[in-house]
Amino acid sequence: MSTVLTVNRQLLSQMQTTYPANRKLPAGAVFASKIDGVTITGYKSGKVLFQGPLEAQEAARWGKPTDSGKTSKGSTAPAASDLPANFSQLAVLGSDEVGTGSYFGPLTTAAVFVPRDQVAPLQELGVKDSKQLTDPQIIRLAKQIQERCPHAVLDLSPAAYNQRIQKYNQAQLKALCHNYVLLRVYHQIAPTKPEAVLIDQFVGAKTYFRYLQGQPEILRDGVYFKEKGEQYHVAVAAASILARASSLAVMDDLTAKAGMTLPIGAGVAVDQVAVKLVEKGLDLGDFAKLHFANTKRVMAQVRK
Ligand code: MG
Repeated sequence: MSTVLTVNRQLLSQMQTTYPANRKLPAGAVFASKIDGVTITGYKSGKVLFQGPLEAQEAARWGKPTDSGKTSKGSTAPAASDLPANFSQLAVLGSDEVGTGSYFGPLTTAAVFVPRDQVAPLQELGVKDSKQLTDPQIIRLAKQIQERCPHAVLDLSPAAYNQRIQKYNQAQLKALCHNYVLLRVYHQIAPTKPEAVLIDQFVGAKTYFRYLQGQPEILRDGVYFKEKGEQYHVAVAAASILARASSLAVMDDLTAKAGMTLPIGAGVAVDQVAVKLVEKGLDLGDFAKLHFANTKRVMAQVRK
């Protein structure tokens, strides 16, 4: 399944900045990117190739195929992957989480509602993917976002996380957290309704809603999923900033409690600090996500 668009230079460079540069460039290509369900390759000639199960929807964001005969037939992509027109300017409730890849620290999930009239101001303030921002920038921007936009943040401390991860897998736990913070903001802004809800995608829509089965309330209306969601709406970027700011504050508390700096990630430096914590007589479960492979390595080293 593939679609080819022929675009002008301006649109080509707009596409190049929209998609993450995360694939090796084939010969003659100016950008190559893989997002959820689609790989996109843009060529100097102005031809842009969309491939994958969601290619037709993604290509439709940009224009009509060069040769409609070549487009896929009967794509089974869920409607939820197809964003409404002019999506980035709509009043959107967005959500994102941080901490899933880090051994130490909480799982923090945030949701932010960005009304139409706050889209441009937030962009001008520099609200973007929190991974591209320094800690001081994140703290400063988080304050601005909190003042301007309805929001909710949920920190699952390591202890709370460790308890729940015995019952749910990590993606399911994330789904529960997203649904929780989204609903909190959704009710907070009522009777105003968001024009759309965008979740920074970590599982497909079907799996997400399956994970939520049995919950007393599930936000479903106008919910969309996109990997790198911050590229589609500033609400997801704002949520990622609030999540990171809150996570930083919790990490500061944990660092004080531990009496040593807790590195992020799940590498060797992390193991070394974890060994020290255990040797100090502290409960690792108050600081770290115990189901990570780090725990086994740490305990093996402690016993030596
Ligand atoms: Mg995310």
